[in-house]
Amino acid sequence: MSLRYQYTCLRCGTRMEFRSRVTLRRRRCPQCGMQITPQEIDRQERVRLEAAARALEEEAERQEEAADEARRRASIARRDDAAWWRSFNEVLTVGGVVLIGAVVLGIVLLVGGCCLLGGLVISSPTAPQPMSSRSLR
Ligand SMILES: [Zn+2]
Repeated sequence: MSLRYQYTCLRCGTRMEFRSRVTLRRRRCPQCGMQITPQEIDRQERVRLEAAARALEEEAERQEEAADEARRRASIARRDDAAWWRSFNEVLTVGGVVLIGAVVLGIVLLVGGCCLLGGLVISSPTAPQPMSSRSLR
């Protein structure tokens, strides 16, 4: 990687790029003729590197924040999962009790209904009437 020095002329704002910060002869801005000093090249390079370092730092911070956010979301998801399982188990327990109650009630009703119906059929005097009325005609 060849190191290049980006330089912006202080007077006219022309952008340049140098391969080295010092040369044997004096450099001047091709646009306005202002002298370009190694000190100014160094200063601009330092500013540029600092900005790059800051950008890297900010990027690292952003990534860390993103990682924190991901961790936070993951822990919330885990909590949600646990809560969901707890409520699911509660529903299962309550549902089981309700189901058993319903089955017992159903059996009681069925047995009671059968007994009641059987009693009615046996004790009812009107039940065999259609047969006897038809045989009468
Ligand atoms: Zn210039």
